[in-house]
Amino acid sequence: MAHAEMNALASLPGGALASTYEAQTLYTTFEPCFMCAATIIGTYGVPQVAFASYDPTWDGLQEAFRRYPVIASRLPKREHLGGPFGVLAYVIHMTGVLRYWPGPYEPHERLAAAGIARCRQLVEDATLTHLLEAGADVVDVAASLWGDLEELAGCAG
Ligand SMILES: [Zn+2]
Repeated sequence: MAHAEMNALASLPGGALASTYEAQTLYTTFEPCFMCAATIIGTYGVPQVAFASYDPTWDGLQEAFRRYPVIASRLPKREHLGGPFGVLAYVIHMTGVLRYWPGPYEPHERLAAAGIARCRQLVEDATLTHLLEAGADVVDVAASLWGDLEELAGCAG
């Protein structure tokens, strides 16, 4: 039931004071879901969200709601940051998904099939598991995979 952006906003001092955050940008790993997006701008007044990656699981949901003008006018402006760190967010998430639900899984429409293939390879050779067991943090993981992340970033839409 937890939603990352709503949880982060709820932890801010002062609670929901929309005018407090009207000049801010919320940075997040994935494009927020519809409920978080509505909370970001509707409750907290944050007009813009910058996200590293499209959500591998729920991508497109905001576009579906944008067909309704009343809702479209109440969503924050979105900026996709992408790049190697965007791919890293995607890879970490998808390796978890593929580990527990091995498929078949349709390639993510915003990342070429090469991205899914690389994620499957990371699951099969337990790359992330080995890194974590060795005490790696996210910076270590990024450094270890950087060549792949740069290559896959070229495949991302
Ligand atoms: Zn959410």
